[in-house]
Amino acid sequence: MANLLEGKKIAEDIKQGIKARVRGIKDRYARSPILASIQVGENAASAVYLKAQKKTAEELDIEYRLETLEGSITEARALEIISKLNADPNINGIIIQMPLPAHLDAKALCSRVLPGKDVEGMHPANLGRILSKDAGIIPCTAAAVIELIKSTKVDLYGKEAVIVGHSEIVGKPAALLLLNEFATTTVCHIATSDKGRLAEHVKRAEVLVAAVGKAAVIKGDWIKDGAIVIDVGINRVDGKIVGDVEFEQASRRASFITPVPGGVGPLTVTMLMRNVVNAFMQQEPIK
Ligand code: NAP
Repeated sequence: MANLLEGKKIAEDIKQGIKARVRGIKDRYARSPILASIQVGENAASAVYLKAQKKTAEELDIEYRLETLEGSITEARALEIISKLNADPNINGIIIQMPLPAHLDAKALCSRVLPGKDVEGMHPANLGRILSKDAGIIPCTAAAVIELIKSTKVDLYGKEAVIVGHSEIVGKPAALLLLNEFATTTVCHIATSDKGRLAEHVKRAEVLVAAVGKAAVIKGDWIKDGAIVIDVGINRVDGKIVGDVEFEQASRRASFITPVPGGVGPLTVTMLMRNVVNAFMQQEPIK
């Protein structure tokens, strides 16, 4: 049976490091890093993330400021508010909660956040820096994927890594980060499935990252013996949350596997807080 990669446990170690860094910041600068979170309108899904962010920020002594904007706000006004937060020297990180109301262009809003304050790592400048290995701020979920893989202590050099899903927020940055670790990296997507070729790629994966958002899209008997399986997917089936991989069958073959829930999710918010501390250190002159 596979070892479980529990995000919460792995996050604990990283949180200790963040706490120590925040203590150091408070000693030197007499204040905590500040994260501004922008929520537009009401949304049940983002309410869950907001709660987790607020709780983790409090635990790490990072100040969390929530900016709640009317659901009917114009794009021009929303951009103005982001610019104001960009210009405020007390704000170290800015996160825009998704999904946004349909009349707002998420890309335009995310691109307005200064790259140095973009603690989600979604600004084109931060995404671009992953290409050159000179990573600035790494997208939180992709960073969580890499931390989970590294926690296994398996050497990635020359390993066959397969990522299923090529979104800008998870699949593509995770693929680039694995490439930077010298894994031989394949990215699968909808066309791979449409051409009936997903199984053949997954079957040779020594490291598999599933980031699709479709329950059981990855069959348990495709998993290579001894593989590391990171399941990013979050799907609701019969009132239960499941990932993209058939967990029971996969865990009989894998050496390490993330549970869903309890794998990637709990680590993602910790990565966000680490980005806030990194952003603070990049913004402040060394004292
Ligand atoms: P997304 O933007 O919808 O991307 C899904 C990707 O999967 C797309 O690249 C899509 O390709 C591909 N795809 C769709 N059907 C496929 C199939 N049958 N075979 C192969 N590839 C297929 O989603 P996302 O934002 O990357 O999120 C992916 C999943 O991770 C979701 O379940 C989301 O809820 C979850 N998630 C979890 C966390 C966390 O912290 N745990 C964070 C973020 C996301 P095309 O675009 O070409 O159709």
